[in-house]
Amino acid sequence: MTRRALGWRSNNLTTNQYRGALMTPDEHLAYHRELARELAEAAKTGDRVDAFSIARPLRCDMGHWLHHDGVDELGDGPLYREAVERHNEFHKAAELVAKAVNVRSSESQRMMAPGSTFAIALNGLEMLTIKLNRALKGQRVA
Ligand SMILES: [Zn+2]
Repeated sequence: MTRRALGWRSNNLTTNQYRGALMTPDEHLAYHRELARELAEAAKTGDRVDAFSIARPLRCDMGHWLHHDGVDELGDGPLYREAVERHNEFHKAAELVAKAVNVRSSESQRMMAPGSTFAIALNGLEMLTIKLNRALKGQRVA
């Protein structure tokens, strides 16, 4: 049984490696889509995932960004709070799926199906990305 690589970079995060602030909202979204893809893959193959890291929003680049620079870039308003909330919701939903995957639950694939809490949380991140792109447009110098 192979242990999938998910979360490896989060485990090794140091200040030097922190790059969340350099990433665009689209890149943050891509990371979470990749996480979703790996969970789906692991559910099929029976591989284990790093549920401990997946469960922790601050262990991913977007979480770091929100925790450190995000509040400066977005301000402490409704969009910032929505971003933190949606990001947390995604990791919470992903944790439940990850745990189901790790015990090879027959439910794990259904837990990622359209309409599931996980799918809705991922969709929430997609909607959020549109708003973040709009809000950050012009603020960041390319
Ligand atoms: Zn995240």
